[in-house]
Amino acid sequence: MSDCAFDLDHYAELLDAAAAGGYRWAAFDHEPQPGDLFLRHDVDLSLDAALQLARLERERNATATYFLMTASVFYNLASSEGRAALDELRALGHHVGLHAIHPRLARDDRFDAVMAWHKPDPEYVFEPVDGVVNVMQSPWFTKGYYRSDSNHHWREGCPHEELRAGAFEWLQLLIHPEIWVYPGTTMGETMRAMVATKQDELLEHLANDRIDLS
Ligand SMILES: [Zn+2]
Ligand SMILES: [Zn+2]
Repeated sequence: MSDCAFDLDHYAELLDAAAAGGYRWAAFDHEPQPGDLFLRHDVDLSLDAALQLARLERERNATATYFLMTASVFYNLASSEGRAALDELRALGHHVGLHAIHPRLARDDRFDAVMAWHKPDPEYVFEPVDGVVNVMQSPWFTKGYYRSDSNHHWREGCPHEELRAGAFEWLQLLIHPEIWVYPGTTMGETMRAMVATKQDELLEHLANDRIDLS
């Protein structure tokens, strides 16, 4: 049986467990109903990692909501790559919301009417936001109906067995794509693997810009 590794094989097992448990892939356009699985991805660091998860989900008929940043220091949603990533997420049938940095909330028509704060403080994390669903407002966030893989660690355990057994009435499941796509047994190893990949990509961009790398 699986050791609950943070890798794409176990991610696929999580998706299969949810399907076996009879869950429905839900978007944040309605309040939680029994059987709903709100699969949420906060894309903090890598659009490429997000796309890898998105393609895997598509193969398994799973649908997620991807929360993308417009002002990240790690990726540029306005670049040709960023726009292509957003188009591909949509083409794969996923939902796209804004991953905002408090207090700036500049939603536009690239995003559905749903948002998630990046690294929120307790003062505002659960507060409703005008005109959009905040994923952490009640009832979408309800204690006991939420699991997150933050920092390479399941605070309340990997949910694959409970999903397979249908043990949650419904669930919001937060998955950070980078943790699953880049190899490593700790967050530090995984982040260094991501940086090595990004270094190769940067050198490629430099070559494309006709920078002399000799
Ligand atoms: Zn597991
Ligand atoms: Zn974030």
